Amino acid sequence: MPGVLRTFSNDTICAIATAMSDAGIGIIRVSGPQALSICDTVYLSSKKEHTLLSHEPNTIKFGYICDGEEIIDEVMISFMKAPHSYTMEDVIEINSHGGMLVMNSILNLLLDKGCRLAEPGEFTKRAFLNGRIDLTKAEAVMDIISAQNNFAFESSKGQLQGKLSSKIRSLREKILYEMAFIESALDDPENYDLTGYPEKLKAIVDPMKKEIASLIETADEGKIRKDGIKTVIVGKPNAGKSSLLNALTGDERAIVTDIAGTTRDVIEETVRLGDIVLHVIDTAGIRDTEDIIEKIGVDKAKSKIEEADLILYILDSTNEIDSEDKDIIELCKSKKTIVLLNKNDLSDNIKITEDIIRMHFSDSSNDHLPIIRTSMLKGNGISELKDAISELFFNGDIVPKQEIYITNVRHKDLLNKAFNSLELVLDSISKNLSEDFYTVDLTGAYEALGEILGEEIGDDLVEEIFSKFCMGK
Ligand code: GDP
Repeated sequence: MPGVLRTFSNDTICAIATAMSDAGIGIIRVSGPQALSICDTVYLSSKKEHTLLSHEPNTIKFGYICDGEEIIDEVMISFMKAPHSYTMEDVIEINSHGGMLVMNSILNLLLDKGCRLAEPGEFTKRAFLNGRIDLTKAEAVMDIISAQNNFAFESSKGQLQGKLSSKIRSLREKILYEMAFIESALDDPENYDLTGYPEKLKAIVDPMKKEIASLIETADEGKIRKDGIKTVIVGKPNAGKSSLLNALTGDERAIVTDIAGTTRDVIEETVRLGDIVLHVIDTAGIRDTEDIIEKIGVDKAKSKIEEADLILYILDSTNEIDSEDKDIIELCKSKKTIVLLNKNDLSDNIKITEDIIRMHFSDSSNDHLPIIRTSMLKGNGISELKDAISELFFNGDIVPKQEIYITNVRHKDLLNKAFNSLELVLDSISKNLSEDFYTVDLTGAYEALGEILGEEIGDDLVEEIFSKFCMGK
């Protein structure tokens, strides 16, 4: 990793790697040069002997974890010897019973005997620092753990298998070749001829730029597919917002999370419609703020709408459109919106038609505003809503089409940086600037792509990325 200073401690770390809840089995993971010797002090075989030091790598031993005379638990211990382990260090995994007290007792014992508690993500960080995986793969590990839908799972699996890395590596190799060629030609003009080189370089950089651009283009869809669609339900009191939310959440009552940075004045419901995940800003479910427009005010609604990817605007179609509706329509105009004409079961009283809505939205950015007639009372319209969402966000194709999707903002930003550098190379070519100028920007692109792989980044960024990991990983 040229030019990058990395600090690396190789003490022996331990952590509970499985969930902190009562379960059949729990795993305490230990990694580092003293993994075997520390674990040996607390392990007794079925013959009550300390035999871990003779533990064959890649085998499992049955025995007991003991604190002096006292048996803490019956365990299975596996040993993976450096460098053939997750971290490339000696790794011991203690399979104990999964209760929190049992696992904590074993963990505390290991800490007493000289292990240090691992930081979040430190096992994977060691795998990265020891050179077993690059940064995209380390990030994929975190994404696999936190994947909330099939797309997120499949795309992080692809990333862990190196699909993104190999693409980035091949781009870097091409750039490096050209950088080396220019340098050689400038150093040794007798043997390397730069005549006609700018055209040749242009023919190489152009397709690379396109390749990077097509990766960047997948990012918005990739993010939506992976993280879900931030959705806000708006509408006047009694339009049917709560009923819509209940219809969406159905039996699968959603996970409720506080949105960071707010008090409990806004909560988020996660709704799964097949492979589509909606994060619905639930204003309807909060008693005091039942009506987003009336009670928490247009400003608050505005900020929620600004953050949203999608607005579901629900109207009671048995009432005429009034000034309050017009205010809401103004807020919706610049956003992807789906209009739900609710209470369609009251067919004798319908006062709002599709034409009326289209007229009010005529100057909005929603070219093909989807309008769906619904009856939350009868449960009609939800599958049409799902189709409309899929059409709006995925061109109706819920099955992902691309081989690689960029789902990580860090990757997207660095691809943009590489793209801009390549554009500067082309700019220098078109202005007939000297070859030195090409080298500067080729280097810029090379480094930005290297940062994606983690080859050009410093300690602080490494810390930041791994701190987002969970314990024991
Ligand atoms: P909110 O104030 O916008 O959250 O509206 P609610 O979901 O609480 O619904 C207001 C009232 O309208 C309730 O009495 C619902 O039962 C009723 N309602 C909701 N959707 C429909 C519908 O599609 N048809 C009919 N007839 N009534 C509905």
